[in-house]
Amino acid sequence: MHTANLAINCRGVSKTFNATTVLDQVDFQLPQGSLGALLGPSGCGKTTLLRLIAGFETLDQGQIWLGEREIANSKSQVPPEQRQIGMVFQEYALFPHLTVGQNIGYGLGRQANKQQRIDELLELVGLEGLAQRMPHELSGGQQQRVALARALAPKPQLLLLDEPFSNLDAGLRDQVRTATKQILRQVGATALFVTHDQEEALSLADQVTVMLGGKVLQSASPHELYLRPTSQAVAQFVGEANFLPGVARENRVECALGQLLLTKPMHGPVTLMIRPEALNLVPDPRGRGQILGQRFYGHDQLLDLQIGDLMIAARTGPRLDLAPKMQVSVSVQGPVVAFQSI
Ligand code: ATP
Repeated sequence: MHTANLAINCRGVSKTFNATTVLDQVDFQLPQGSLGALLGPSGCGKTTLLRLIAGFETLDQGQIWLGEREIANSKSQVPPEQRQIGMVFQEYALFPHLTVGQNIGYGLGRQANKQQRIDELLELVGLEGLAQRMPHELSGGQQQRVALARALAPKPQLLLLDEPFSNLDAGLRDQVRTATKQILRQVGATALFVTHDQEEALSLADQVTVMLGGKVLQSASPHELYLRPTSQAVAQFVGEANFLPGVARENRVECALGQLLLTKPMHGPVTLMIRPEALNLVPDPRGRGQILGQRFYGHDQLLDLQIGDLMIAARTGPRLDLAPKMQVSVSVQGPVVAFQSI
């Protein structure tokens, strides 16, 4: 395997706490310069993986490389402070008795040009003029930016962020996410963040890694993950999905929606995954579908359809021509993903 452009490379990493396996033979890679998300439900092991990379936990099996340097295996560990990794914690963990400027400069020790570096970072995160403030005099969004600036100050090889946006209220969160991404891009940082919010992972990251029960299920670009999930579990966890039975033959499949094209040739009984927005609805008194329910959100709407004894969800833009009780014809846009039924 070519590892030259990898910022992180975890091979066969396992971790057990009190006889419970929290990470089970995890392989995980992140290319240099990219922004990665570890996504999964509570308890799937994502924070443990982040803490192993940071060096706050020891691993039972496997190896971790940071660039070309092996930083951990089951026998030896590079101490966290020698890993050149920056951390941003969920609670920001700013030093309450230090000013903004002192917080940002904390990791710089006595290095020459320290003040210049602090000023650069204040400008980078848009907090010029606030160097003398204390953390409690800042808004949540500003505190988050100080935490980011403090982590970036020593120019770490890698930045790890643990649920970095979860303490912000919904209105501010989107703005802070976008600003954080811009800042990371501007300095060319490689960063990995943990989240259980799929929208956050999809909208921010270059690479999203879905974890479940201590295993990595899939690591891919947001588009790939959403449009080409490799398992039913990923399809179910990321976005909304309809699952329906079908019978495949080569590139085609027969199902309640008629004959559809598959993304790859398959044979025999399969489970199809169709995203609600991939369904086209046309009012048609002789159509196979009936609209049973409608949830209108303005920018879009979700419609519950009955087709034979199957219930599926469709998402469309706002339309005046669709309403409950109507019959509709239903077609599917583009080829569909199928999983072999067991
Ligand atoms: P969350 O989003 O809730 O933080 P997570 O996916 O990040 O979840 P982890 O924090 O990695 O999950 O925890 C995975 C499992 O390991 C959990 O069941 C947790 O209780 C357990 N665990 C984590 N740290 C320890 C520890 N130090 N001692 C014992 N068990 C632990």
